[in-house]
Amino acid sequence: MALRRPMVAGNWKMNGNSALAQELFKKFASKLQNDSAEVVLCPPSIYLESVRQLLESNKQTLDGALVRMGAQNLSQHDFGAYTGEISGQMLKDSGCRYVIIGHSERRRMYGETSNIVAEKFAAAQKHGLTPILCVGESGPAREARRTFEVIAEELDIVIEKNGTMAFDNAIIAYEPLWAVGTGKSATPEQAQEVHAFIRNRLSEVSPFIGENIRILYGGSVTPSNAADIFAQPDVDGGLIGGASLNSSEFLSLCSIA
Ligand code: PGA
Repeated sequence: MALRRPMVAGNWKMNGNSALAQELFKKFASKLQNDSAEVVLCPPSIYLESVRQLLESNKQTLDGALVRMGAQNLSQHDFGAYTGEISGQMLKDSGCRYVIIGHSERRRMYGETSNIVAEKFAAAQKHGLTPILCVGESGPAREARRTFEVIAEELDIVIEKNGTMAFDNAIIAYEPLWAVGTGKSATPEQAQEVHAFIRNRLSEVSPFIGENIRILYGGSVTPSNAADIFAQPDVDGGLIGGASLNSSEFLSLCSIA
């Protein structure tokens, strides 16, 4: 029986500030237990240092609760003339443990192809970061019953480039595009169906990885729908956008998980 510690990761996107980070840590100190879900904060890169300092100065009060830091993106390159980009090495050096890869907003708005996503996945691992790989189908793809096909394609290209064993040190986030930022989350059944599909696909190559990989659900998760979604057998927590910007809601999601 796998022991998958639940995870709640907050993707602030281009929101929040250092005051939000401080407010969160104040609440963590009194509410997070050391057997709670692992909590990951993914602020905009400019605030990573503030969060790092808060992690450092709150070590005592967190008392064993797992709070960690992640970035929202990284460059597939190691260094060089890439204005505005941040390398995996820099993120690692700044105290990040995780990095979100292939978020649908990056795929859609910044032209990140599945090939680039696979390269970023490799770059993250090369520098000792754990990728949180996002996959998900669009509304029209779901209506056309192509959900599994799209998810399989997005996964397979990363597997081809990196090998299945690379998922030994990775997290997957299922984020249906039609649910991200829309207020319309997947139903618990829809989430479970896709999570089980992802787990089975990895299990075909490595039962160990399939059993142990954590698969998060993301897309309009709030304290009112989280309990039923997180209770699904193949859902190991959530990747939270909007609700991660409200410290009370985020904390309540951490407790639910
Ligand atoms: P949302 O975003 O919770 O605001 O829908 C989730 C995400 O984009 O990771």
